[in-house]
Amino acid sequence: KNLKKYFPVKKGFFQRIVGDVKAVDDVSFTLQDGETFGLVGESGCGKSTTGRTVLQLLPPTSGEVWYQGKDLTKMNFNQLRRIREDIQMIFQDPYSSLNPRMTIRKILLEPFVIHHKYSKKEREERVDRVLEVVGLTRAHGDRYPHEFSGGQRQRIGIARALIFQPKIIFADEPVSALDVSVQAQVLNLMRDLQEEFKLTYLFIAHDLSVVKHFCTRIGVMYLGRLVELAAKRAISDLPLHPYTKALMSAVPVPDPEVKRHRIILTGDVPNPQNPPSGCSFHPRCQSCFDRCKEARPELKEIASGHYVACHLYG
Ligand code: SF4
Ligand code: MG
Repeated sequence: KNLKKYFPVKKGFFQRIVGDVKAVDDVSFTLQDGETFGLVGESGCGKSTTGRTVLQLLPPTSGEVWYQGKDLTKMNFNQLRRIREDIQMIFQDPYSSLNPRMTIRKILLEPFVIHHKYSKKEREERVDRVLEVVGLTRAHGDRYPHEFSGGQRQRIGIARALIFQPKIIFADEPVSALDVSVQAQVLNLMRDLQEEFKLTYLFIAHDLSVVKHFCTRIGVMYLGRLVELAAKRAISDLPLHPYTKALMSAVPVPDPEVKRHRIILTGDVPNPQNPPSGCSFHPRCQSCFDRCKEARPELKEIASGHYVACHLYG
């Protein structure tokens, strides 16, 4: 709720603070039980930072994060530790997140060091069980990360996230580093696990074609702000925000008969330290008009559950 994460920009010998980067700038959304909520946008739009601040891996500058009636931002270390069993994370690069000197079993036992309430027997059983549910075997537990393919390593990353039977998994670009053929396998596994363990996913990706298939609701971010939020169907069939339209038009269509007008986004993402006035998308927007340069559009509900921040609507 109204989540903000600003990073100070320092300059010179004395490292004086000369400004800030508004990586996350007043973002609000709800994660519904059992859904897959996707956050999309170009790199640097603040989607990972949003996820990290929600999880309190980064302290937010301001805002609230409500989970089961409690505000995570007000919790102390011990309270958060308990919550972390419920909310786990899958990383983009399964290799760099696995310690190369540790066997898979050791890696999977590691989270218990901080959460020490489980007996040794229960720990071992849990490790065997998560290896099995992600499609690996007990014997795999004695091997080292380099002995596995990229897809298998991501399975290990998923196994590690499952060890406490979490309710929510925050997946930050979980398949971006994988070959396309392997991406589908990992996404299918994630979907099966979601059903089996009643998981809720917060899924982050820059690739809208992945999000479009995998997510039930989608939030589109641009320069630290949500510009559109709606059910997957609405975002794919009836995108409203000019930025979403451009992203959607770039998603390949499997049917060669379908001709689609591709909108080319001109210009780079602006410098977040010095964002454009008014609507921050205006220098790249083909529908820009006078008001866009002066006033910032707020996120408004245009149809039931369909939110958009653009002066063309409402
Ligand atoms: Fe384009 Fe204006 Fe809408 Fe921004 S507010 S997306 S500049 S039409
Ligand atoms: Mg990122």
